Amino acid sequence: MYLTEKRWQDIQTNNKLANDDFVYAVKTTMIFCKPSCNAKLPNKENVSIYRDYHEAIENGYRPCKKCNPTGQLLEDEEWALQIKNFIHRNYHLNLTLDEICNQCHGSKFHLSRLFKQVTHQTIMQYLHEIRIEKSIALLNENIMTVEDIGRKVGYKTTSHYIKVFKQFYFMTPLQYRKRKNS
Ligand SMILES: [Zn+2]
Repeated sequence: MYLTEKRWQDIQTNNKLANDDFVYAVKTTMIFCKPSCNAKLPNKENVSIYRDYHEAIENGYRPCKKCNPTGQLLEDEEWALQIKNFIHRNYHLNLTLDEICNQCHGSKFHLSRLFKQVTHQTIMQYLHEIRIEKSIALLNENIMTVEDIGRKVGYKTTSHYIKVFKQFYFMTPLQYRKRKNS
């Protein structure tokens, strides 16, 4: 598709009505936008016009984070948020990946992949991160034993809790507590 005078005007005026007509891509940034995007106006000679986001992606461009021209990404972000919320509410339960995905009404394959894409970590990594974070607060309180804390944040065995803790802090929970108190 061509960058007609009309389309160039649509880009300049952030014309929402043109969003169904085309997306525009910018060579210097390799990013593409909806006409309505209020990002900085590119140089005209760097602009390419595509019928839709599929075409822009096929040509190697990435969607703009500001105007979200695929819509798809937003959906993925909402999924990821939903998974995070579920984990925040249920980290203390004995959760498996299957169960998390079931509870969030998505397939394991689909949710694992999109979560990784959006957050750059796996669902289980995120679960452990939250558990360890919660356990740090309890360790700092200095009331419960390490065994009880491990169980309280969702680890069935103390050894599992210690193993995961070490992956994050390179020391055991007990060492962490001692260091904190010394
Ligand atoms: Zn944009």
